[in-house]
Amino acid sequence: MSVPLSHSLVTLTFSPFVSLQVILLESSARYGGWLWSTRRSDGAVFEHGPRGIRPAGPVGWNTLNIVADLGLENEILPVTYSHVASKNRYLYVNDQLHKMPSGIGGVVWTVPPFSRPLLLSIAKEILVKKGTEEDESVHSFVSRRLGKELADIAIDSLCRGVFAGDSRKLSVRSCFPFLYNAEQHRGSLVLGMLLGSGPTPNVIPGPLAQRSRTESWAQWSLRRGLESLPQAITDFLAQSGRVELHRDATVKQLCLSASGWEIHLEDGVISADHIISALPAKALSSALPSSFQHLIQQLQDISTVTVAVVNLEYEGSILPVMGFGHLVPSSEDRGLLGVVYDSVPFPQHNAPNGESTRLTVMMGGAWFQEVFGTPETITEECLLATATEAVQRHLGVTASPCWSRVALQKDCIPQYHLGHWQRVESMRSYIKKNLLPLSLAGSCYDGVSVNDVIISGRTAAEGLLGTGV
Ligand SMILES: Cc1cc2nc3c(=O)[nH]c(=O)nc-3n(C[C@H](O)[C@H](O)[C@H](O)COP(=O)(O)OP(=O)(O)OC[C@H]3O[C@@H](n4cnc5c(N)ncnc54)[C@H](O)[C@@H]3O)c2cc1C
Repeated sequence: MSVPLSHSLVTLTFSPFVSLQVILLESSARYGGWLWSTRRSDGAVFEHGPRGIRPAGPVGWNTLNIVADLGLENEILPVTYSHVASKNRYLYVNDQLHKMPSGIGGVVWTVPPFSRPLLLSIAKEILVKKGTEEDESVHSFVSRRLGKELADIAIDSLCRGVFAGDSRKLSVRSCFPFLYNAEQHRGSLVLGMLLGSGPTPNVIPGPLAQRSRTESWAQWSLRRGLESLPQAITDFLAQSGRVELHRDATVKQLCLSASGWEIHLEDGVISADHIISALPAKALSSALPSSFQHLIQQLQDISTVTVAVVNLEYEGSILPVMGFGHLVPSSEDRGLLGVVYDSVPFPQHNAPNGESTRLTVMMGGAWFQEVFGTPETITEECLLATATEAVQRHLGVTASPCWSRVALQKDCIPQYHLGHWQRVESMRSYIKKNLLPLSLAGSCYDGVSVNDVIISGRTAAEGLLGTGV
């Protein structure tokens, strides 16, 4: 059995006669959590959460193996490394778009907004001494190894694009473990990339994952939007008859006694031998018994950020450049994280009749409160106006969008701040020491990407069943 993503709480009951009873509890009316797609009646698709999944490495293969098992191969929309969306990524710095350096030329020559060739930073990196701290902010780590300019512009923007977070607070050890491990095991990021930087989960790539390697995919989506993945998973589980699925089932309170867990819902109580929680950390902390104070405190210390996701559709082909999109460093505009040019990687999601351009503007994140105030008081009109004004200023688009949708994604991305690894280790050792029948999965602990949360569910389930990834 593997535990899928975004299914908040999975309870397991073992008995000598019945093999395994699995119950899945989800508080909202739909499964999928942040995997959330609007399919308009004309066929256009707009994503309000993730829009592209990386196929590479064991965690990427694991997801593709599941996609194949679910029979979704024909739904896959791959984007190869040779596609313009993979080759062209932009930064908006000093009121201008700059293509991120790529290829040999981009490394050897000085490419604005950078003031010297990247090759210089890369060549010097090999000689930089290993850090002595157990953890370090992403910004400090990259400044130390590759220089302040790269940290201020490229890494600051990257952290805003991936975590909607502040590179000066995020932990390199938890957010980019491959960078941390490259320094620890090889003494250098360059050598780590060339020689490998540590152990990875053991996943055998199936035929679809192998195809992604042969065809050199950089990312993929699904024809009907990424929400069709959790929909296919829940359809499969419902048809298998082996899992009880409950929507509109908010976990209110968890009580543990010698006979196991009692899970209190709004309208009843369920018993379970073991719980795999993929709830957001704060939701789990408020459901746990108050006697688990240590665990509750650690869970509450994992903060999250709110992101305003504004989908815009324009008539015609309005982009001045082609590429995946552009990111904006915090020094340029604190509230505007970046703009994704969705129509470039996934033109299949455009409306079928007539030419159109779909963009997504991401705003807020770690700067939400500072720029927009509380999520409760900001209006959709204000967020829409800020997004369309940014498109006009950054891309020179003077037309108004012909369709838009504002989604205020509250507390949607956990922030792995400095010391996150200690917090997670401390929670897991508390659970082990106290023999709690509880496993932690989901985006609050070991990685926020869709691939990471899927493998975290699988690792939790296999750990429990004594198999292993
Ligand atoms: C705007 C945005 C863009 C992103 N882009 C990408 C991307 O392009 N690629 C990528 O790989 N990743 C991306 N991510 C990250 C990724 O989508 C998420 O980290 C991942 O989907 C989180 O999955 P999860 O199951 O851990 O948590 P969630 O999706 O938060 O699921 C938790 C579930 O728990 C339920 N729940 C909450 N409280 C209770 C309760 N008390 N009882 C029962 N159920 C409860 C919720 O309703 C929810 O369904 C993005 C995230 C966001 C927000």
